[in-house]
Amino acid sequence: MASIGKISKVCAAEVLDSRGNPTVEACVMLEDGTSAGALVPSGASTGKYEAFEKRDGDKGRYGGKGTLLAVENVNTVIASTLCGMPLCQTAVDFKLICADGKQDKSNLGANAVLAVSLAAARAGAQALRIPLYKYIGGINAVRLPVPMMNILNGGVHAKNDLDVQEVMIVPEGFDSFSEALRAGCEIYHTLGDLLSRDSKVTSVGDEGGFAPDVGGLEEAIEYILTAIERAGYSKEQVKIAIDAASGEWWRDGMYYLPKAKKQFTSEELCAYWERLCDSYPIVSIEDGLGDDDISGWQYMTERLGKRVALVGDDLFVTDTKRLKMGIEKGIGNAILIKPNQVGTLSETLEVMRLARENGYRTVVSHRSGDTEDTTIADIAVGMNAGYIKCGAPARSERVAKYNRLLRIEAQLSCGAVFSDNGF
Ligand code: PGA
Ligand code: ZN
Repeated sequence: MASIGKISKVCAAEVLDSRGNPTVEACVMLEDGTSAGALVPSGASTGKYEAFEKRDGDKGRYGGKGTLLAVENVNTVIASTLCGMPLCQTAVDFKLICADGKQDKSNLGANAVLAVSLAAARAGAQALRIPLYKYIGGINAVRLPVPMMNILNGGVHAKNDLDVQEVMIVPEGFDSFSEALRAGCEIYHTLGDLLSRDSKVTSVGDEGGFAPDVGGLEEAIEYILTAIERAGYSKEQVKIAIDAASGEWWRDGMYYLPKAKKQFTSEELCAYWERLCDSYPIVSIEDGLGDDDISGWQYMTERLGKRVALVGDDLFVTDTKRLKMGIEKGIGNAILIKPNQVGTLSETLEVMRLARENGYRTVVSHRSGDTEDTTIADIAVGMNAGYIKCGAPARSERVAKYNRLLRIEAQLSCGAVFSDNGF
């Protein structure tokens, strides 16, 4: 059987993400000649507890968003820390965490650290000649995630009149991932037709979803429900999920919706979400309240937690300590998983295990600024996550993840599991 050798070289380069901003690509080489790379994504509606993304701050390059300092950290400190050690993922990640030394990875930069962590995992899988999802999950890695497809964009991801950041379709009533994805694509295309019939713009937001002015969230959902029906699917097969990203609205204990110019208390916002759940087939609300509104989250979880997934994104930031806090305080019942919020693969997998042990569902997620890297697809399958968010079926950085999942499903063949999901 193949074994994993020692790390012989670690290097990085500045490349671009889907918004044309610089990001980090790292490469890990092994003594046996194995070589693998990984790229990190970048968010726009970032939570304040996320790990630190190192940017150069030199306004003369990419408006200060250059990643040359992070790249330099990989080529110097990280390379000398890892070269010569055997590739064991937990040991590599532990060394990366120690080399940085800061809780938020602000010394080396979480972008530098994660790129290397993921590249190391890819190199490990390659050295063993097994697919990455199997490297992560072994023979347990069989479940294809239900895609939560963000087909209507708003918030800070689009310059339209919608305050809620994402309105997603959740095609969960299908026998296979490929059939669910097909339904999602057909609904997306039908939605485009409906919008152009009504002379709405069909340009897209950062995650590939349409970004028209629709007049509000209810109108957006109505459009999507019509698209589901016109595409030939039922409300039993395809549900709705939203990501409010409401932390963007939170100021001095109140929620100010900048586009609708409305304001809400926590209780009022919960009551609004409840009315929405009464009217529409909503199965999941992400960041329905802000990351510091802990008492509001308790109230919302008591009120809605039994009927809908309450997903913590900016609330939990893929962080074990934040999730433990949530478990203790009884807030939320699901967690969004974004590896770059925490900075290493091992920490990402640890928080997913903690979530599972405590009955929290896991939704693996892309970022609004993403790349052709498909690691999150393998993490979702490797950990039997159940759900994945990777945008609309438009723009290659989103589609790359869906294509990876299609290939994994084909590879698993009759061993692939898709049903039995369901929020
Ligand atoms: P972000 O958005 O990548 O801009 O943070 C994604 C999300 O909020 O889920
Ligand atoms: Zn979110």
